Amino acid sequence: MTKKIKLDLFELKKKKDLREIYKFFKFKTRKWFDINLKPKKEFFILKKCLFCKSSTSREVFAIDGFSYHKCKSCESIYTKPHMRDDLLNSLYNDGTYQTYQNKLVKKGKKIRESTLENRKFSQINKLLKTKKPLILDVGCGGGTFLNICKQKGWIVEGIDPSPQSSKEVMKNYDIKVHLGDFNRIKIKKKYDVISFWGVLEHMLDPISALKKAKKHLNKNGILAFEVPSSDCFMSRYLQKYNFSPTRYIESARHNIFFSRKLIDKLSSENKLQIELIETNGLDIQTILFKEFDDLITEKIINIQDILNDVLLGDHYRVFLKKK
Ligand SMILES: [Zn+2]
Repeated sequence: MTKKIKLDLFELKKKKDLREIYKFFKFKTRKWFDINLKPKKEFFILKKCLFCKSSTSREVFAIDGFSYHKCKSCESIYTKPHMRDDLLNSLYNDGTYQTYQNKLVKKGKKIRESTLENRKFSQINKLLKTKKPLILDVGCGGGTFLNICKQKGWIVEGIDPSPQSSKEVMKNYDIKVHLGDFNRIKIKKKYDVISFWGVLEHMLDPISALKKAKKHLNKNGILAFEVPSSDCFMSRYLQKYNFSPTRYIESARHNIFFSRKLIDKLSSENKLQIELIETNGLDIQTILFKEFDDLITEKIINIQDILNDVLLGDHYRVFLKKK
């Protein structure tokens, strides 16, 4: 198994940036709610569970007007009512999200490149038999992950909806990026690896995306993704205590949280074999945030390490193999 990384949230992201972005989105989404913080009809729509189409759910927590429901059938958590598709698109299309995203990832760029992306690479590489694999990274952002794969000799391609990011990846790393939405774009090739790092939870239809990815995988190809977990320690904390975390929830941007039950169901229904599941959480540091004391960093990171050992960290990382 690839060695785990004990990650410090504040090495990765600046406290100040996390706070600012949280405040910005709270301000930006405020007009979607009435004076009593109830969702306005023109902005929201009732949808069934995106995964299993069940309409039976119960509210597990409410944050800044958004209500989060747990599906009775597949145990995923989703926003209910759901934002209308055009509203979600407008959030990404006006460029503000991109600006904030760039600011947030800037601080951690070094760790990302030197450690995190390398680990993802080696996790996938261990599962592959192909010599010069062809990879498609969906939502490739700044391209740091693809660049590592390229350096290791893989043939790499990305897809991203942002024209700015796509251009930069081409310019900085000479990597081909298809511009557009994965679910809409026409794909002609088959790949040995298709990855979605922190992407599915932002999509209007993540299940179609996973099914489409499977269709474009070669036999024994790897489908890899990282998504926020609905089973994690953080989710349990939020169900018990009233609290607005600066990450993990990301109101209006994260609308789906995956359960283990759902991952198992998805893989068996689509004949994908689970090769590896782990969690990479930052639950404790996110919860302690304001009161966080540098002196106890090590202990906190150790506690998180144990939470990850028992798969209770706030993000699932999943590797499936096409049979
Ligand atoms: Zn469901």
